[in-house]
This record gives sequence, structure tokens and C-alpha cells, in this order.
Amino acid sequence: MKDTAKHQGLRNQLANVLKAKGITDENVLHAIREIPRHLFIDSSFESHAYQDKAFPIAAEQTISQPYTVAFQSQTLAVKKGDKVLEIGTGSGYQTAVLLLLKAEVFTIERQRELFKKTSRFLPKLNYNPKKFIFGDGYKGLPEQAPFDKIIVTAGAPYVPKPLLAQLKVGGMLLIPVGDKTQIMTQFIRKSVTEFEKHELGDFAFVPMLEEKN
Ligand code: SAH
Repeated sequence: MKDTAKHQGLRNQLANVLKAKGITDENVLHAIREIPRHLFIDSSFESHAYQDKAFPIAAEQTISQPYTVAFQSQTLAVKKGDKVLEIGTGSGYQTAVLLLLKAEVFTIERQRELFKKTSRFLPKLNYNPKKFIFGDGYKGLPEQAPFDKIIVTAGAPYVPKPLLAQLKVGGMLLIPVGDKTQIMTQFIRKSVTEFEKHELGDFAFVPMLEEKN
């Protein structure tokens, strides 16, 4: 688990790439400069870690593209102490960004292998979510609801009702919706019964699957 000046240099460059692509939130850019992304992927592929692309991790899953992580994090507009539910822990990289933005994070993963690996790994780097959950994100986390923000990091064929129901009034759900490619979709809860919907462009994620594995 080595992090060198060379890695730091590559991270600074990556942050500049993301800036050029439209990421303006300084706290998000700071997190990109801070988090050793090379430690989140297999060490033999280290050279890929600071390119702006998605990459395979375990269990046929991917670590999201840095731009996507930065875009979702910026859109989420995390405030210190926000209670955030993340669906799709994966490598834990997005989780680490949320933690550096000072969110209180509950993160759900449906692949046991990834759940085990990442729940051991993140604390070693001193990234400590409130809770790692092995479960099905379609159901959300009713026992901890309501949340200020809910972020989904897998492509959802439809918007799961429980996720909308578990938002605070004033809260936000950010979810990529679609089969082959997805439209990043933002829901703001205006009142108990009203949601405002915004579509924020096309992205590509691995599919959100039901149940757990
Ligand atoms: N944020 C992660 C993204 C990983 S890819 C990262 O950057 O590493 C999406 C993740 O969502 C995968 O790990 C996949 O197993 C998980 N996933 C898919 N469907 C899910 C569900 N219903 N509930 C929880 N996690 C799910």
C-alpha cells in the first residue's frame, strides 16, 4: 500500500482533466487529489489508476470513471454531516469521496465478495462509513431513513420506489436510469408527495441487479 510523489503528481493531473471537463467544486477536486485511487484497483493495473476511465474490479464489477464519480459528487452538493445512502459500494472509491466531503455514509453492496473486501479495505485507509451493508439496494435502508441524499452507482432499469420514499423533504436522489446506457436523473423531494425531476445527461454503468449474491 504505497503512495508516492509520482502518484500524487498523477492525481493532480487527473484533477486538472476533470476541471477541464467541467468539474468546478473545489471540495470534490480536493478529494480527487487526495484519494489514492491506485490502491482501489488490482496492483498489476496501477498504471490505469489515474486515467479518466472505468476499470474492472472483482466480481465482474467496475470502479466508476473518475469523471462520473466527480460529476455525481458535485451534483449531490454534500454538506457537512449530510446523511447519505450509497447504493453500490464496489471498490469504495465513491464512498471515500463522500467521506472526504464530510458526509455520514451508509453504503450497500449486493456482491458478498466486494462487500467483504471493501469493508476491510476502506478502514485501513482511515475511511470510515457509518455502516457497510451487504444487501439489496433496491430496498434502500428503511431502518436508517430518512436520508438527505441517496446516490446510486449502478444503472437502474427503473427508479425504485423505496429510494424516493426514504428521502427527507428537501433531499435528493441521484440515479442513472436506463438499460444499455443511462440518463443521470436527479429527484428533489419538494414535499411529502411531490418530487422535482431533472435529467442530467448520458452515462454508462454496470447494471443494478436485484437481490444479493
Ligand atoms: N461506486 C463504485 C461503483 C461500482 S459499480 C466504485 O466506484 O467502485 C456498481 C456496484 O453496484 C457494483 O459493485 C455492483 O455489485 C453494485 N450493485 C449492483 N446492484 C446492486 C444492488 N441492487 N444493491 C447494491 N449494490 C448493487
